[in-house]
Amino acid sequence: MSTSSAVRHSPIATVNPYNNQLVREFPPMSREAVDNAAQNAQHAFQSWRRVGVDERATLVGRAARLLRERGEELAQLVTLEMGKLIGHSRAEMDLSARILQYCADEGPGLLADEPLELDGGSAAVVNDPLGVIVGAQPWNFPVYQVVRFAGPNLVLGNTILLKHASNTPQTALAMERLFTDAGIPQGVYTNLLITGSEVDRVVELDVVRGASLTGSERGGASVGASAGRNMKKSVLELGGSDPFIVLDGDNLDHTVDAAMAGRMHNMGQSCVSAKRMIVMSSAFDRFVTEFAQRMRALQPGDPADEATTLAPLSSERAAEKLSDQVLDALDKGAIAVVGGGRVDRPGAFVQPTVLVGVTPMMRAFHEELFGPVAVVYQVHSDDEAVEVANDSPYGLGGAVFGSDPARARSVARRIDSGMVWINHPTSSEPNLPFGGIKLSGYGRELSSIGFKEFANRKLVVTMPADTPITDALG
Ligand code: NAP
Repeated sequence: MSTSSAVRHSPIATVNPYNNQLVREFPPMSREAVDNAAQNAQHAFQSWRRVGVDERATLVGRAARLLRERGEELAQLVTLEMGKLIGHSRAEMDLSARILQYCADEGPGLLADEPLELDGGSAAVVNDPLGVIVGAQPWNFPVYQVVRFAGPNLVLGNTILLKHASNTPQTALAMERLFTDAGIPQGVYTNLLITGSEVDRVVELDVVRGASLTGSERGGASVGASAGRNMKKSVLELGGSDPFIVLDGDNLDHTVDAAMAGRMHNMGQSCVSAKRMIVMSSAFDRFVTEFAQRMRALQPGDPADEATTLAPLSSERAAEKLSDQVLDALDKGAIAVVGGGRVDRPGAFVQPTVLVGVTPMMRAFHEELFGPVAVVYQVHSDDEAVEVANDSPYGLGGAVFGSDPARARSVARRIDSGMVWINHPTSSEPNLPFGGIKLSGYGRELSSIGFKEFANRKLVVTMPADTPITDALG
């Protein structure tokens, strides 16, 4: 059973997915207000770029401290707005504070000049900021996604127009407040309360020099096209359907623990969730039985209650979409070992579901399943495991579990994705690059690689004043 809010409200609103009730709504900003914000961001860039990198890093370090101080308040807000289990919200705040701290501590070093050898002179790549960068962010990790984008750009000296998901407006405003309270000057970080359909127009504004979107292929294709048409740099962090390969049945309890963590963190609403379990035939039956048992044991309830183990999805619409994908598979012959429907209670709840017998005829084979639904495939060789893993339009993360490290590494190297973890579900750390290939997007966030995505990596060459001039132009 599900209920949707009967109230017609602004598209920018907090609707608690635990009961589908409207909590608070916000009018979208006018175009004039958005254009003013963009002009202010451009104006602020002229002074922010001249503030030394160490001072910018100090302010981002203050933001890290504030995030720790406000962690509980932010965690409660995230749980209210998108239904995350409170424990998972707290973990998000911890990782987010660590990311900002990493940006503060390591940013100046990562952005230092990079000397190059040159006969008769000296050369260096210097990392200059580009200017105003637009960041469109999703609701699934509404604090982590913001800091992953904003932390490096603030230290680098770019200014930010942040367009957050329409269903997490209060978290969006709380993040703007956090950066302002940390001392980031006016105009350097501005939250735009606008809908997704307005983003392309912002990307196309003359003052904007780059755009990053984390979210769906639809949003990514749109922002990527607008940026490309206007010769602006873009980074796209999109969806995934990550393989989770089980090579053998050794230590199976541990592997099933990892499968649960990989599939169920954030109720499966993570781009790097383990969405497709690919299990060697020798371990298949045991894996399915134990995994299904663990999924069946999850208990729905209030996500703000620490005892709850099954939270709602982020919205009624998300729950309906996932249920349609499951129904499509069941109609075409797949079997639900556990689950298969909605939970009979108000709110955006979907039953934890394990599907077997999924074939390419079914949406579940090709599409991203964004929620507590796993597909398990049986394979008979490492080659077949790699073939199934790579038979996906996505290429974000992946995991390989096995007791023989050389074999696991060999399989991992053959997976077409941006990240692969061995004997651990795909995860995120401040110093590790995050991003994908194929329909999962392009570019990276975090680490030394992500730090420079929106840098002008400018070559500066110094020759002695009396250097003979040659005409060796490229
Ligand atoms: P979404 O609809 O694309 O929303 C993401 C952001 O883009 C929101 O702020 C949204 O605004 C905006 N947006 C929507 N349509 C747009 C358009 N046509 N042009 C420009 N901006 C647009 O994505 P979602 O479905 O909410 O987010 C979940 C997806 O994000 C999943 O596929 C997940 O795998 C992916 N994700 C990827 C990563 C990664 O690092 N690769 C990380 C987290 C999530 P509105 O809210 O106003 O529509």
